[in-house]
Amino acid sequence: MFDKGILLIISGPSGAGKGTVVNELMKDDRFCLSVSVTTRRPRPGEKEGSSYYFRTEAEFKKLIEQGELLEYALFCGNFYGTPIKFVEEKLAEGKNVILEIEVQGAIQVKERYPDAVLIFLTPDSISALEDRLRGRGTENDDVIAMRLRRAREEVKLIQKYDYIVLNDLVRNATSQINKIVDTEKYAAERNTDFPKKFLNGGVD
Ligand code: ADP
Ligand code: 5GP
Repeated sequence: MFDKGILLIISGPSGAGKGTVVNELMKDDRFCLSVSVTTRRPRPGEKEGSSYYFRTEAEFKKLIEQGELLEYALFCGNFYGTPIKFVEEKLAEGKNVILEIEVQGAIQVKERYPDAVLIFLTPDSISALEDRLRGRGTENDDVIAMRLRRAREEVKLIQKYDYIVLNDLVRNATSQINKIVDTEKYAAERNTDFPKKFLNGGVD
């Protein structure tokens, strides 16, 4: 009882700190992370199969045709998508599965899995976001400008999300997300088998 896996979507503008916060969450083995497929080139240090599955556009399109992606989107010139098999297997095992994906993909997931929990992770201002993007030092000025333009659009879709988590300090953001998951586990609509268990000897 109260141990069904939750599909947790973490979105937010590029540079918000999603990767950093997700790394922190992953220290707890009640979470597992879905590795996406992308047509973007690897950044220094990124590894095939743990950062992303890096694929050509033709390979990516084939995955779409074969129905192997739960969702996908075009983001700043590159395709990104979530392999469906891993997500379904892990949810069936009762794990909380994290998808770190952008807004268009998050909306597609919510349509397919209405009980997915959508979190928008963000610093408190666009200027803090720009500082983080520049501080990360992984994109050139043109790409940073494109990602900031995109951020201005993404934040307008905030009403599609269930929760906003401010990433002021990584530790605060992580703790907030853990609280959300703990609260969601006890939602009555996720535990429709409660009456049966209650009447048949109790919940475990
Ligand atoms: P995203 O995955 O959302 O694009 P990253 O996790 O790569 O973002 O973080 C972007 C940059 O901001 C990195 O240099 C990271 O170290 C830094 N960062 C992440 N969280 C915070 C925070 N709470 N305060 C200050 N800097 C942060
Ligand atoms: P980056 O290039 O910085 O790794 O990722 C760019 C954006 O793509 C981020 O907002 C990230 O969350 C998003 N993203 C990563 N994987 C996926 C995915 O599988 N699907 C979708 N829709 N977005 C993704």
